Amino acid sequence: MNLEELGWNSFLALSFESYQQAGYAAARVALEHKNSYIVYSEFGELSAKVTGKLRYQASGQEDLPAVGDWVVIKVSEEKTATIHHVLPRQSKFTRKTAGAKTAAQIVATNIDTVFLVSGLDGDFNLRRIERYLIMAWESGAHPVIILNKADLCDDVDELVLEVEAIAPLVPIITLSAVNQQGLDGLLRYLQPGKTVALLGSSGVGKSTIANQLTGDASRVGGIGTMLQKVQAVRQGDDRGRHTTTHRELIKLPSGGLLIDTPGMREIQIWAQDEGLEDTFADIKTLAQACRFRDCQHVREPGCAVREAIQEGMLDLKRFLSYKKLQKELKHLSDRQDKNAALVEKEKWKKIHKTMRKYQNKR
Ligand code: GDP
Ligand code: ZN
Repeated sequence: MNLEELGWNSFLALSFESYQQAGYAAARVALEHKNSYIVYSEFGELSAKVTGKLRYQASGQEDLPAVGDWVVIKVSEEKTATIHHVLPRQSKFTRKTAGAKTAAQIVATNIDTVFLVSGLDGDFNLRRIERYLIMAWESGAHPVIILNKADLCDDVDELVLEVEAIAPLVPIITLSAVNQQGLDGLLRYLQPGKTVALLGSSGVGKSTIANQLTGDASRVGGIGTMLQKVQAVRQGDDRGRHTTTHRELIKLPSGGLLIDTPGMREIQIWAQDEGLEDTFADIKTLAQACRFRDCQHVREPGCAVREAIQEGMLDLKRFLSYKKLQKELKHLSDRQDKNAALVEKEKWKKIHKTMRKYQNKR
């Protein structure tokens, strides 16, 4: 396996330099087990364990490897690996952990493009697309909106216009995954070394699209279990029946990589203000013309946002959606450990700064 094909780039090479000089290798996490990982490396697929030191120093799950991560490894003679560090993430998706404790759990990292899938059937919902957009911007991945089930819709063009209005500048692709129509529109995001993931509510067609991308018909109807069975049979493997699972970082025939972890399906909204601001950039722009800087756009005089609503320039429903999400996010951030949030924010600022420098250089 060649590292570029797995998504390696000069940003990663830069952060890996000192490790390389010290004799370490780089690898990408393809699957996370309870106490071990499967990683892809130039030595092929390896089973890997985190060193005691890394586990001890980790202040939480966020500091440990997740699917999609680039990690710094040492390979033993028995072809197993120890993971010493996690290289800086260029994007990451988190979800709230179950239960009352408000903590983030990393679902997947280093995704270049996230396909936000909606169905063009009775399930179509602009407000939900806004929510997914927030998560996408927050993650650092580039969103592409996929409107699936075009075969069930008589007014595709009209709905595309509606989506364009709430997501200016975000690419929109219409598909009929079951009829294999429009899938070629996805290819430009699936180029060698580029990582994609699918996000969207249950039933919108994510598995169907994933199956089309991987060319694996056995996956229809339930990714994990079906494929596990098929693989076990294919490999004639009677010893490893319980250990054989699919990889969650999947190499596609196009050369791209698909991250397909069950965790992506359980993602709930978990975002800070930045994602909200990007998604509602129109409201933010309007708000700059409000008389008061801290205008809440409720009943303040000289409110440009209310004015825009009255004049029909801004959809009232969109504004209410914004207010509702703002409230939810505030509620979440109040519950979060303030210090942890700050540390995290600083870390991300640094990463984004480095990335911008890197992107400008190209
Ligand atoms: P997921 O929950 O997002 O993974 O959705 P699935 O891929 O399991 O799809 C849910 C249902 O929608 C299945 O019955 C699919 O056959 C159906 N479906 C998926 N894509 C399309 C499409 O383009 N057109 C139509 N009519 N049905 C689709
Ligand atoms: Zn205002």
